[in-house]
Amino acid sequence: MDKRRCTILKSEELWNQAKQLFAGGVNSPVRASVKPYPFFTERGKGAYIYTVDGKKLIDYVLGYGPLILGHSPDSVKIKIAEQLEKGWLFGTPTELEIKLARKITSHIPSAQKVRFVNSGTEATMAAIRLARGYTNRNKILKFSGNYHGAHDYGLVEAGSAATEYNVATSKGVPYEIINTIEICEYNDIQCVDKKLRKEDIAAVIMEPVMGNAGVILPEREFLSGIRELTKSYNSLLIFDEVITGFRVSIGGAQSLYQIYPDITTLGKIIGGGLPIGAIVGKAEIIENFTPSGKVFNAGTFNAHPLSMVAGIATIEELEKEYPYIIANKAAKILVEEIERMIKIKHTINHISSMFQIFFGVDQVKNYSDAKRANKEYYMKLHEMLLKEEVFIPPSQYETIFTSASHTDDIINNTLNKLKKVIGELN
Ligand SMILES: *Cc1c(COP(=O)(O)O)cnc(C)c1O
Repeated sequence: MDKRRCTILKSEELWNQAKQLFAGGVNSPVRASVKPYPFFTERGKGAYIYTVDGKKLIDYVLGYGPLILGHSPDSVKIKIAEQLEKGWLFGTPTELEIKLARKITSHIPSAQKVRFVNSGTEATMAAIRLARGYTNRNKILKFSGNYHGAHDYGLVEAGSAATEYNVATSKGVPYEIINTIEICEYNDIQCVDKKLRKEDIAAVIMEPVMGNAGVILPEREFLSGIRELTKSYNSLLIFDEVITGFRVSIGGAQSLYQIYPDITTLGKIIGGGLPIGAIVGKAEIIENFTPSGKVFNAGTFNAHPLSMVAGIATIEELEKEYPYIIANKAAKILVEEIERMIKIKHTINHISSMFQIFFGVDQVKNYSDAKRANKEYYMKLHEMLLKEEVFIPPSQYETIFTSASHTDDIINNTLNKLKKVIGELN
């Protein structure tokens, strides 16, 4: 160890400082769920996070979704570096936004026009306003346990945002706003039918595959039923594909299930690890944003050049298909082997390169099921794996992701550690 190495602050020391500066010591709540205190990261490469404590963790959190290629892939890094030479904020249009929008509209079937914003939260907030402006209706139907970001409308009964803090809806959301949101359980088409018939619903917003209450899959008839019902009641259908876009397939969940929404929100992967959000959909609807329409949206950082280049570079890699082949294979092997290892009652929900394990339950098809799972057992798995230098999310209500960097060797290494850990859990 050289001298410099010894002066680097360790996680515990940094944590003591962070607690003095940030609410709960962090800037996004889930990060505080790593106990007894979160490790601090020095750098990331491929499937690995390197901590300030000198640990090398195999990472299955991957920034909570965006890093489908793994950490700092050269293909993306080079493009960001090139853009840095040219400057990174102009407040004018750039050709880069056209390039990324072309990529998105060529892959996401229902996307004709695009508005770039800076986060998934901003995207769903703007999409909801757009739907209300377009339909001249007020109410929004959402599903319990679906997360659409940290704004007032999204936070009504919102998955990981709710359960971890023992409130159905965040404090501080006005009663008047809660009253504009109708709630159904996921996979309950009768409820959707009833609400659409009874209420003046501007839009149904949903995660076409749930990724914020663990992974929960839609029944095919549920998705097709919602599409038919929203059409017949003249409500819009918003797919929040902030996690699933470019993840479950290059065309998102809509491509996989062949159900096409009116509006789609994107984020995470399309920024290649830099901040981004997008609202995409039928031209006739997206045109209602200012300046062509009367639904206001604006942003100093909208279509940020660095996010644009990182997004373009990431999608260019995804177009080569190998990332999906590697990431999906990694998840498939992990799921199959974990199924074999766990002897106690459990279920695993899995699609493409995302999955989650629920202990103590036979099936999880909505948020109520997810809440019945033994999350203490899941947390034990997380803690024991972290000791073995494998990082899975510190919450039952997040998703385990794999990436194009999770090669066979890394998966085999993970399986050896899992065998040991699950042996103790059984
Ligand atoms: C992550 C996420 C969001 C919020 O995106 P941010 O960039 O964190 O604001 C919204 N919807 C879904 C489905 C998400 O997974």
